[in-house]
Amino acid sequence: MLEIHQFPCLSDNYGYLIHDPASGETACIDTPDGAEYLRQAEAKGWRITQIWNTHWHPDHAGGNEAIQQVTGATITGPQEVTKMFPLDRAVTQGETATLGAFTADVIDVGGHTLGHIAYHLPQAGVAFVGDALFALGCGRMFEGTPEQFWASLSRLKALPPETMLYCAHEYTASNAKFAVHADPDNAALAEYAAEIADKRSREEWTVPMPLARELATNPFLRADTPDLRARWGGTTPEETFAALRAGKDSF
Ligand SMILES: [Zn+2]
Repeated sequence: MLEIHQFPCLSDNYGYLIHDPASGETACIDTPDGAEYLRQAEAKGWRITQIWNTHWHPDHAGGNEAIQQVTGATITGPQEVTKMFPLDRAVTQGETATLGAFTADVIDVGGHTLGHIAYHLPQAGVAFVGDALFALGCGRMFEGTPEQFWASLSRLKALPPETMLYCAHEYTASNAKFAVHADPDNAALAEYAAEIADKRSREEWTVPMPLARELATNPFLRADTPDLRARWGGTTPEETFAALRAGKDSF
């Protein structure tokens, strides 16, 4: 069994340590706060052996140096991380990363940044998606194009629907407000939004979330549906996605 330790980090990031008990290996999924990751690993009694970055933003790769200095961990990530800190291994779509007996498929999910990647571990039924996809939302399109971002989301849509998605921020409550605005007749979304409001009123986490639920409710994953196209315009999913992304940016 892959063990996943989730903890809040910085103001609204989630930190993740994943651990393979058989080999004793532990990987940091991104490094928003090096000191906090080192504390969390020590509390678990886990020795950090690897860092897997999703993209170069400082709240994802900013702790690489501190963690590597203390642990000697090897760093895997998209080439763009080298803007921040050297990588031991640059990976792209179709390549893999390995933690003990577990293999992660690297998925290109560029759009938030150009080289953003996700890590899908089919044996564990989980994917770490960074800032590409959030519960009921997706990342801001800082560097990519709607075409690129939609192709990225389409790769995530194609994962097994029971996959549990671990995103990097607790943005769900504000995402839910826009989602309901974007897709007001979606009953599954209304139910999900009510559940989120309830959870957040008790400061409970809304992450991870099953892909199946996002497929039914996340407007950015539903840019290819007649409902969203009718409401947001566009003649292709890419155009509808672009309208939704711009709508969220000014919401
Ligand atoms: Zn980011």
